[in-house]
Amino acid sequence: MRYTNLLYEEPPVTLADRMRFRFARWIKVKPHTLVNRRPIVTFTFDDFPRSAARTGFDILEKYSVRGTYYVCAGLQGTRNEIEEYASAEDIIDVVTRGHELACHTFSHLDGLRASPGDLARDIDRNSREVAALLNGYKYENFAYPYGRICHGLQVEIAKRFTSGRGVFRGINQGTIDLANLSAELLYHPVEQQATAHRLIEENARVGGWLIFVTHDIGATPSPYGCTEPQLNDALRAATESGAEILTVREALKKIGATPSH
Ligand SMILES: [Zn+2]
Repeated sequence: MRYTNLLYEEPPVTLADRMRFRFARWIKVKPHTLVNRRPIVTFTFDDFPRSAARTGFDILEKYSVRGTYYVCAGLQGTRNEIEEYASAEDIIDVVTRGHELACHTFSHLDGLRASPGDLARDIDRNSREVAALLNGYKYENFAYPYGRICHGLQVEIAKRFTSGRGVFRGINQGTIDLANLSAELLYHPVEQQATAHRLIEENARVGGWLIFVTHDIGATPSPYGCTEPQLNDALRAATESGAEILTVREALKKIGATPSH
């Protein structure tokens, strides 16, 4: 099956973009040194398709833990080839069930292509939409659509949010950049399971903060989602590793990061 309508694939990347990515990796915009006593694992869901809520809530809550959902409010009422994106009801459920709702722009805007003004308006719209649904709810954290970042964008995000999560791979450990949290992909296919186990073990060994990112959850997920057994297995392994399983917001407190607002 060819996926033409999924948002996850990066738009074309130019040589200049690659240079900007590299620069973003070298320069820490919001450096912070972790002070957590126990390893931390976080499960994050981008965009997010309904199954991340409907199936994801049940799996996470079985382990008495919560996840972070990076929402684009503009995707309500739209769908990809597999399923619909979260409805207003799903978005409200994230918060009422104790999970974290975080910002992913209103329209899944490519921060490298948008002007600073357009980006600010799009983020503001995403904030207004959710505040209206949820009694003035305020986002604390952000994930870069397509994982695309550059130095200027990170500076803007650092002003508005406590953290910005990208998709640079790796375990967050030592001194990290809060404006560019690293994340690992919890995607299909199943060989990812061995990778997830290795990462969880490594994270326990170094006392770090491992953030997984995925999208939909189902028996035949998109290439950017995972199956129920996969998520279950990662949660079990994370629990057995002695790690605390926390939302981004909870983890930031444990690592000693001060909320931006
Ligand atoms: Zn996304």
